[in-house]
Amino acid sequence: MTKQPAHIVVAGGGHVGLYTAHRLQRRLARELRRGDVRITVISPDPYMTYQPFLPEAAAGSLSPRHVVVPLRRVLPRCRFLAGEVTAVDTGARTVHVRTPVGEDADAEPLRVSYDELVLAPGSISRTLPVPGLADHGIGFKGVEEAIGLRNHVLEQLDIASSTRDSAVRDAALTFVFVGGGYAGVEALAELQDMGRFACRYYHNIRPEELTWILVEATGRILPEGGEQMGTYALRELRGRNVDVRLSTRLESCENRTAVLSDGSRHPTRTLVWTTGVRAHPVLASCGVPLDDRGRVRCTPALRVRDVDHVWSAGDAAAVPDLTRDGRALCAPNAQHAVRQARRLADNITATLRGKPPTHYRHRAVGSVASLGLHKGVARIRGRHVKGLPAWLIHRAYHLGRVPTFNRKVRVLAEWTLAGLFRREIVSLGSLEHPRAEFELAAGTGRPPERT
Ligand SMILES: Cc1cc2nc3c(=O)[nH]c(=O)nc-3n(C[C@H](O)[C@H](O)[C@H](O)COP(=O)(O)OP(=O)(O)OC[C@H]3O[C@@H](n4cnc5c(N)ncnc54)[C@H](O)[C@@H]3O)c2cc1C
Repeated sequence: MTKQPAHIVVAGGGHVGLYTAHRLQRRLARELRRGDVRITVISPDPYMTYQPFLPEAAAGSLSPRHVVVPLRRVLPRCRFLAGEVTAVDTGARTVHVRTPVGEDADAEPLRVSYDELVLAPGSISRTLPVPGLADHGIGFKGVEEAIGLRNHVLEQLDIASSTRDSAVRDAALTFVFVGGGYAGVEALAELQDMGRFACRYYHNIRPEELTWILVEATGRILPEGGEQMGTYALRELRGRNVDVRLSTRLESCENRTAVLSDGSRHPTRTLVWTTGVRAHPVLASCGVPLDDRGRVRCTPALRVRDVDHVWSAGDAAAVPDLTRDGRALCAPNAQHAVRQARRLADNITATLRGKPPTHYRHRAVGSVASLGLHKGVARIRGRHVKGLPAWLIHRAYHLGRVPTFNRKVRVLAEWTLAGLFRREIVSLGSLEHPRAEFELAAGTGRPPERT
């Protein structure tokens, strides 16, 4: 009887999924050629999103197609299956997958068997039961949201420019961001930069008329970067007239009004919610042990505790941080996700070859954040850098990190061109309704409402 090839299934095509599969196809090149191993990557989207570039994509410094990496092209020796893992049967070693044709909830899921499984569905935005949030909030996790937000901000300028109603105008020119972590601070800073620049093309809007509010529940921003970095970023934002409200919460956002816990009320048409992430809810159906925050409990070797042949890493996983004392866990960030993915691929390779896996250990060297064009903050090996040097470090770091040489060249070329020409400030919000024009012509539709 011929021996079946060992089947490695990677659930998720983000940082962990892409880097794990990429490393596996190199490490196991011989076995793949011989047909001893198969690798399948399952993810709803055929691309990985390099999330640290989303703020720049929102500001128009990078085009959307350059912040995503096509999985099929980068993983030529893996099979890609477009679909969502909906459950895992760890006893039968099968994953249930809902494919795009089977979107009908009653459709029978595809069953894919595995010998080794990598669970890497990442995280989703952490929301709270704030009245009005589900109806009006805008998230900032995917490329669709970043581009949607860019179009939305530019549309607000169009609305403000063309209305005679001062209340509508004020609400259109007020932008509220909730959450002072990296995503919120970088998105706000980049969009404020873009908004101020765009004003020069509007005959009746001055940059000072735009109100930018950052609401943060704790007493500081950028907690990931340490106190000094947060203090500098706070000073920089306030110096640019951003109204940063610390130790403040969003109470409600009904009827286009953001009500804050300090008693203030802000009529607004833009409410961006970036208060952190929680592990992907699909993990609850995967038959694996979860911690109190819904993350998969992992050993330092990235195996799932008490479940054979299942591994995990990244935002979905609770991985002990061996560089710190006690019961500390690795933070959910790309620095860890990428390094864990490499360790995970090496450990699966070792296991298939009958060798013991190695523990994951990584000491972060620092963090960087962009605060708009030519402005940034960074902490490298305990030293703080700010302004243009920090912004250059930010760009150099992420250029080095974004996967594939091809993508690096594209990003560099785009940055270089952007340095020679002015940035684009056109809103392509109509792309979200590609059939609207034809439906109007056919007499079956009406123009989409602006949000
Ligand atoms: C705006 C923003 C900026 C950031 N900036 C930084 C930064 O500057 N530095 C830093 O270190 N970190 C940053 N991060 C965090 C970093 O991007 C994440 O920690 C990292 O992406 C986690 O990797 P992951 O593979 O666990 O998850 P992801 O990269 O999110 O990948 C998860 C993948 O799983 C797929 N998936 C979801 N559900 C299923 C399912 N049911 N079945 C199959 N596949 C599924 C998703 O489509 C996705 O492809 C940022 C995050 C955001 C949102």
